[in-house]
Amino acid sequence: MFDWLIVGAGFAGSVLAERIASQRHESVLLVDRRSHVGGNAYDCYNEAGILIHRYGPHIFHTNSQSIVDYLSQFTQWRTYEHRVLAAVDGKLLPIPINLDTINRLYGLELNSAQLEEFFASRRETVEDVRTAEDVVV
Ligand SMILES: Cc1cc2nc3c(=O)[nH]c(=O)nc-3n(C[C@H](O)[C@H](O)[C@H](O)COP(=O)(O)OP(=O)(O)OC[C@H]3O[C@@H](n4cnc5c(N)ncnc54)[C@H](O)[C@@H]3O)c2cc1C
Repeated sequence: MFDWLIVGAGFAGSVLAERIASQRHESVLLVDRRSHVGGNAYDCYNEAGILIHRYGPHIFHTNSQSIVDYLSQFTQWRTYEHRVLAAVDGKLLPIPINLDTINRLYGLELNSAQLEEFFASRRETVEDVRTAEDVVV
């Protein structure tokens, strides 16, 4: 018999189960229809011995030290530098869009204040913002 039944062993279910067990000292049955814990963030070694994310790549990022401290009880960390470039008209440009992106895309030499003016001069009103493209426009 268990005090709690939690369905789904992803981040949400796993953290909840851990908190109940460690803080309330109550028993939890954590079940999942998949054969593993971790939900969509699950990783495993493939047949070549390479660690992969089965459901798509996951990167951990937070500005909360308490979250880092909490998770560090259960995992070690591997430093990772994440740089994304978009290929636009044969140029490799930094993403998310920043001052460097605009200057290199349009061949300009704007500073931060001028960039705001540049955006204002081209900004379009989108009544119903539904996509990432709408946000950029
Ligand atoms: C491709 C991809 C990339 C991502 N990249 C990042 C990233 O870089 N950084 C980041 O922070 N987040 C990322 N995310 C988001 C992250 O995966 C989710 O925020 C997180 O996994 C959500 O956790 P969860 O516990 O809410 O749900 P899930 O991880 O979806 O876990 C839910 C679990 O419940 C189980 N379940 C559902 N219904 C039932 C049922 N009826 N019976 C039994 N079990 C059930 C499922 O099998 C699953 O294991 C990414 C997601 C995807 C898909």
